[in-house]
Amino acid sequence: MITDRLGRPLGSLRVSVTDRCNLRCRYCMPEQEYVWLPKQSILTFEEITRLVRVFASLGVEKVRLTGGEPLLRHDLPALTAMVARIDGVRDLALTTNGLLLAKQAEALRRAGLGRVTVSLDTLQPQRMRDLARSDRHADVLAGIAAARGAGFRVKLNTVVMRGVNDDELVDLIEFGRANQAEVRFIEYMDVGGATGWSADQVVSQRDILEALSARYGAVTPVTTGDLSAPAERFRLPDGATFGIVASTTAPFCRSCDRSRLTADGTWFLCLYAERGIDLREPLRSGASDAALADLIAATWRGRSDRGAEERLGVVHRAPLYQVDGLRADPHREMHTRGG
Ligand code: SAM
Repeated sequence: MITDRLGRPLGSLRVSVTDRCNLRCRYCMPEQEYVWLPKQSILTFEEITRLVRVFASLGVEKVRLTGGEPLLRHDLPALTAMVARIDGVRDLALTTNGLLLAKQAEALRRAGLGRVTVSLDTLQPQRMRDLARSDRHADVLAGIAAARGAGFRVKLNTVVMRGVNDDELVDLIEFGRANQAEVRFIEYMDVGGATGWSADQVVSQRDILEALSARYGAVTPVTTGDLSAPAERFRLPDGATFGIVASTTAPFCRSCDRSRLTADGTWFLCLYAERGIDLREPLRSGASDAALADLIAATWRGRSDRGAEERLGVVHRAPLYQVDGLRADPHREMHTRGG
């Protein structure tokens, strides 16, 4: 097992397959125009598969396909099948906004995808229009239904923003219950395209627990034994469970085994990292698998990132980047890093 300077294993890899997205969520991609990664820099399926195989040879067991919107990448089921066949990959998941999921759920299941997480910030179509500039709420719901129909275990991701959707916590829990899909409430983070972020819009884990216990009664933590999981899980008195990803107010850097590969092969050791490591250049200039493995292992051994914890120490906390900084390097975007 390869561990970093804080003893954290190289355990899970998020693979962004495109930086393009078909939503414009206020907390992620609020601008009209974006600087996209150059087309020729985007890794092919074979290149992605080769890198994931090298990561798996070093201990990565969990792989999550993400984006941008991963279902915008042509023939994602084909890539899914290639990654699913890699020795050592035990948990293959997808994070999607669900818009294109209904059509592809069956094919993804057949390809060997294990789990699906769908982003669902609101149950109100009009609110989705304001929040994500899309009137395709029904397609998201159809995607969730199709994923369940195809036999997936589905989770729902909700970024909670004060004054935007924090009045829907109970409705989302009930929707999750009715659809056998566990909800994970995510604290609004100040990273990437969150240029409108301010601390007062963050609905903290504490706020969420207070609101839910006011409605349901005492909420108890669920111990899963998976210390590297980003979400803390909780149980309502009636047995329903949900998760909270408290990256903003109670970060979990100490147990973070996650790293991120962008669609152009840049490897980030932390969501907040200033820079990533270019794996595309050695990959395309003939490096052997052993050389790539050496580079990845040596880099991971030197990792000491605790980005979210360091942000906690910032006194007047504001968005990490403004638009100019993001345009200067699109790798700083959440939609490029894969969230
Ligand atoms: N398009 C896919 C989706 O919508 O799930 C995958 C990419 S998206 C960048 C991955 C996750 O990042 C989503 O669950 C999204 O809600 C989350 N995300 C993006 N910006 C965020 C922010 N500022 N704070 C918290 N979560 C954020």
